[in-house]
Amino acid sequence: MRRFVCDCGSPVYFENDFCINCRSALGYDPLRADLITLADWGGGVFRDLQGNAFRYCSNGEDFGVCNWLRPADSPSQFCKACQFNRTIPDQTRAENKERWLVLERGKKRLFYTLAQLNLPLLSGWADPQRGLLLDFIEDARTSDKYPETFVSTGYLGGVITINAVEADDVARATVQDELGESYRTVLGHLRHESGHYYWSLMNPEPMLLAEFRQVFGDERKNYQAALDAHYQNGPALRWRERFISAYASSHPSEDWAECWGHYLHIYDALDTACSHRLLDRSPESMSMSERLRAWSKVSLMLNELNRSVGRGDAYPFVINEVVAEKLELIDLAMDRLRTLH
Ligand SMILES: [Zn+2]
Ligand SMILES: [Zn+2]
Ligand SMILES: [Zn+2]
Repeated sequence: MRRFVCDCGSPVYFENDFCINCRSALGYDPLRADLITLADWGGGVFRDLQGNAFRYCSNGEDFGVCNWLRPADSPSQFCKACQFNRTIPDQTRAENKERWLVLERGKKRLFYTLAQLNLPLLSGWADPQRGLLLDFIEDARTSDKYPETFVSTGYLGGVITINAVEADDVARATVQDELGESYRTVLGHLRHESGHYYWSLMNPEPMLLAEFRQVFGDERKNYQAALDAHYQNGPALRWRERFISAYASSHPSEDWAECWGHYLHIYDALDTACSHRLLDRSPESMSMSERLRAWSKVSLMLNELNRSVGRGDAYPFVINEVVAEKLELIDLAMDRLRTLH
């Protein structure tokens, strides 16, 4: 994530909607990929220094969960990112506002990096065949009005489903503990599931598919049986030698999505490190192997900094040569995806 500066000169951040120094309104303009300082012109209209007129996304105006802007004359009430929502947590219940806010923040970070990588991104409303939609779903764990006891987070047919309970720190940590995972975050879920979406979009040519199967394995392997076996018997033996996470060893499609998620983590974290001058080059200007070399230093530093303040590792993963090869292939696949615009 890049650094943003208010027109008054104060540093401001991606999620901010006002500057604590000069009290100006702030909003994120996805077209310029910038946080804009705004003057209130009344009636919900805000203008930047150049006179461009904006409104906040109606999810910001009505619910306070979005700081993205839309042009004042936009035909949609939603910002570019909220146009992807299909289901939101029931806002008549007070606790769901905070959950939705956490989910929106994760989604905005995901979309920011996808835009930086220049990957195609259309909503399922705009393109029902190839577009993406998001369902933030609840189940009986958050309200007894829902009959399903367990709606899982996942991807199916152009829709990313995130269970709203994942936005609760305690509930998420409980599941993480039960599954013995070293890492579980809303942003991690979103990045992982976006990997499934882009795989479905890619329709790889035979050469890339052959290479995929060589590196990740055959994705036609029975998915449900593989997942059942993973949850019953645990991960593959010595999975650390070949996989980024235990879950990645469950099925080639999950390995792909896990690695895709890590690609985005690494890219965004390197971008952040560069914008804070911890690195002298941006990930955009690096080859994949250069990024991985930089990341091995930055992630070590990140973990050590975290330990210095009494926290666990921020990035509890090892990228060995086998995983590096998978990330290289994802880098190649992104080149192909960029031609699909
Ligand atoms: Zn300011
Ligand atoms: Zn929005
Ligand atoms: Zn998955």
